Amino acid sequence: MKKLSDHEFWFIVGSQFLYGPEVLETVDARAREMADKMNASGRLPCRIVYKVTAKTPEEIERTVLDANHDPRCAGVITWCHTFSPSKMWLTGLQMLQKPWCHLATQYNVEIPDTEIDMDFMNLNQAAHGDREHGFIGARLRKPRKIIAGHWADPAVQARLGDWMRVAHGVAFSRALKVMRFGDNMRDVAVTEGDKVEAQRKLGWHVDTWAVGDLVKEMAKVTEAQVDALVAEYTAAYDVATDNLAAIRYQAREEIAMKAMLDREGCSAFSNTFQDLYGMEQLPGLASQHLMALGYGYGGEGDWKVSAMTAVIKAMGEGKTGGTAFMEDYTYHLEPGREYSLGAHMLEVCPSLAADKPRIETHHLGIGMNEKDPARLVFEGRAGKALVASLVDMGGRLRLIVQDIECVKPIMKMPNLPVARVMWRALPDLQTGLECWIAAGGAHHTTLTHDVTAEQLRDWARIMEIEFVHIGKDTTVEALEHDLFLSDLAWKLRS
Ligand code: MN
Repeated sequence: MKKLSDHEFWFIVGSQFLYGPEVLETVDARAREMADKMNASGRLPCRIVYKVTAKTPEEIERTVLDANHDPRCAGVITWCHTFSPSKMWLTGLQMLQKPWCHLATQYNVEIPDTEIDMDFMNLNQAAHGDREHGFIGARLRKPRKIIAGHWADPAVQARLGDWMRVAHGVAFSRALKVMRFGDNMRDVAVTEGDKVEAQRKLGWHVDTWAVGDLVKEMAKVTEAQVDALVAEYTAAYDVATDNLAAIRYQAREEIAMKAMLDREGCSAFSNTFQDLYGMEQLPGLASQHLMALGYGYGGEGDWKVSAMTAVIKAMGEGKTGGTAFMEDYTYHLEPGREYSLGAHMLEVCPSLAADKPRIETHHLGIGMNEKDPARLVFEGRAGKALVASLVDMGGRLRLIVQDIECVKPIMKMPNLPVARVMWRALPDLQTGLECWIAAGGAHHTTLTHDVTAEQLRDWARIMEIEFVHIGKDTTVEALEHDLFLSDLAWKLRS
């Protein structure tokens, strides 16, 4: 899969012939300078490539078709230095298949009080040109990100950088393959979903492999391979068990799963404790370490949360807050100190760990484990984060995002044998919970410190799926009203 640095963004600047060749030369030189300086700022995760100052429909259409076909190009950034009539852009924008950002900026910061004349006005009329450009985007109902402000402003560059990560997440999503070991947990509703719709909208290719294939692959793993991975484990984690055989077994599982994932080009996987035929332990440490390497994971056959975790990890590449598969387990409802406790039976990604994780082995009563699985145990770090859940509403997909504040767990819980994360949902536990349940959010989520709700909203808009955000200002009444209207709108749309 492509990394952030494999991607670039094409800068297309609008103008026209009306102002004469000198103005066009100035626009061209300034567009190049702006791209160079934004690239040199160190605030953008990907390079901007200035392509053209567009004067004709043919130039725009050719550049768009090239952008569609170039695998390095993850999106286009447009801006109108002068006025640029938008019927010239219409066909090209209709053909555009890559994410689009309209950077509503201008070259200069200040109006030059004593120098300003009509020549200046004709050259520097982004306020005028960007409105024409904005109209055609609205008229076409084309998904686009609009970022307004001066191009050299660090805050504007940071937002552009965030959007580049979203566009990278779009490219990643459209190429994503998910490997399912076995089916979903029996009788569960929320982990089901329309895999054809997921591929049509999100690009996810979701297929199944038998657990028996994995068991055969495990038999091929050599002791030397196991030794090498166990050495990696012991370098990264504290060993807090005498059961070294369990750790070696998890290493064998990880090596075999990774071999199958890489052979098939899959970046995410799911499994279920109900289908472990031929295996002694549910992969715990194995799945956790694969997640730390960037693979998406979902328990109980939940391929949606697995794929979503992989996409969000891709968007947050290089960030250090952590992104993980998570599950809501239990509440602390002491008045004034209300928290949620999240964990999973084994598989929480150590990217969330506040301190060095410990490898422990414990009995796991759920499922068909013959032996005690090794797993990483740790506390999640504190800080602002969000949880995201993708659900299938029948005919459409809905992405629900809730802002949360993670805290250091307020108690030790010495008998809890799994990694744990504690948080306060916004706007508060009770309202946030009522909103989450009203929207149909799942018990499985992706928890991330590295990607914002704005980024996931932009991603959902590009993918043309429904987006629901629960934050500090959300009320149950307003949310229920929005969900009612949204249901009507999406029935017309899909
Ligand atoms: Mn679960």
